[in-house]
Amino acid sequence: MQAGMYVYYVMGKDTMGTNAAGDHVVVVGGGVIGLCVAYYALRSGKQVTILEREPEGGDNCSAENAGMVVPSHFVPLAAPGMIALGLRWMLNPESPFSFSIRPALLRWAYLFWRHANRSHVEGCRSLLCGLNLKSRELFVELSSEFDYGLVKRGLLMLCEKQQTLESEALLAETAKGLGMEVEVCSASRLAEVDPDIDMEVAGGVWFKEDCHLNPHAFLSGLRERIAALGGNFRYDADVEGFTREAGKVKAVRIASGSSRADEVDADQVVIAGGAWSPLLARELGLSLPMASGKGYSMTLEEPVQLPRVCSILTEARVAVTPIEGTLRFAGTMEIGGRNLAVNERRIRGICKSVSRCFPRFAMQHFDGVNRWAGLRPCAPDGLPYIGPAGPGLGNVFIATGHAMMGLSLAPVTGHLVAQLLGGGLPDIDIAKLAPARF
Ligand SMILES: Cc1cc2nc3c(=O)[nH]c(=O)nc-3n(C[C@H](O)[C@H](O)[C@H](O)COP(=O)(O)OP(=O)(O)OC[C@H]3O[C@@H](n4cnc5c(N)ncnc54)[C@H](O)[C@@H]3O)c2cc1C
Repeated sequence: MQAGMYVYYVMGKDTMGTNAAGDHVVVVGGGVIGLCVAYYALRSGKQVTILEREPEGGDNCSAENAGMVVPSHFVPLAAPGMIALGLRWMLNPESPFSFSIRPALLRWAYLFWRHANRSHVEGCRSLLCGLNLKSRELFVELSSEFDYGLVKRGLLMLCEKQQTLESEALLAETAKGLGMEVEVCSASRLAEVDPDIDMEVAGGVWFKEDCHLNPHAFLSGLRERIAALGGNFRYDADVEGFTREAGKVKAVRIASGSSRADEVDADQVVIAGGAWSPLLARELGLSLPMASGKGYSMTLEEPVQLPRVCSILTEARVAVTPIEGTLRFAGTMEIGGRNLAVNERRIRGICKSVSRCFPRFAMQHFDGVNRWAGLRPCAPDGLPYIGPAGPGLGNVFIATGHAMMGLSLAPVTGHLVAQLLGGGLPDIDIAKLAPARF
């Protein structure tokens, strides 16, 4: 983003010098990001309408994710070693990663490669950590407004191999340097930290500030709070385009196949369409490189054991979350098109890793269990897009591309976007997240 533009936004002025910020904000997308933007915008005194393509209670990537709040995730997806690891994984159909080569993803892959290096990782470490810690603070604040099962017991990175434990221990040192509370645990220490589940691992790292929650309860609680604050929801509202006038969007157009096709007047617009955001951005003439990263989750209603602390099986990249008496397992990152087809080989990979690390769990426990799939919106450098849309789009903001951290970063995203909508200076420097950065 050009420095001038940033100043123009934080001053809340348009190019004519008049006040840019009207009162009615239209948020496109009712996933966790759109809902958090709506919530914080309402709290700052805006009127808000959320336009969501799905019917009320419809599915999206936010619905059945692993529910983890992760200050521990300060390394972006684009990191050294990821390309070599990804290529190795692509040879194994049960591995947690695949990349489907298609022309639309070539630029994304090139940009990913450009960023998968040490200087990028070091350059965004404290930003990601700061965003996640601020978000955690906001989650704690929100939990006094409504109950969504927030559990503050940390997260265990469980390692099957000693070599993995050693590299996680190095990461733990970096985390300590960032001010986080972290403990490297032997297998016997893990049994003390979580005596409720048998583990067969070499050890693990306990990130004590991480949390977990019930994503469904969080979304429904947020929707209720938004309605109570006067927010307006329109479901079955598939946004197909925008009506522009004098360098601004003045209305958002809903497709004719939707329940009520029309235009919704907007003073400001926020694009929070998850993996579909690039299509919306294209309507505005903005290129938003993004890949869809498909992942699956399965929830056991009556698990044989219920851990107290959420965990990640480090080698298999499987997230394990106790959610109010049930146990959810989530994993895989299939970079490809926007389809939700379930690949049973990869599901098998998840189940195998679970029964290896938690010996009381057998493959059969997953028979007949619903396989949920969601599309993570992944920016190529592993950082979300948060900020003004760019030149010539005076009143449009983007909030998407959070990949594996969309739930974790949702409150801070809402908070920052509300500050931008109000014409204020965001209290975290988000220049690196500018949507027009590529
Ligand atoms: C298996 C799995 C596990 C995960 N676990 C975690 C976790 O533990 N912690 C974490 O932080 N993150 C996790 N994530 C990532 C997280 O779920 C996503 O980053 C997050 O849900 C993205 O939210 P979103 O609001 O951007 O997108 P979505 O939830 O996909 O919402 C976008 C919405 O926009 C709507 N939309 C799109 N286009 C239009 C249009 N044209 N008109 C109207 N509406 C439109 C869609 O219908 C959708 O409802 C996980 C993801 C997966 C798949």
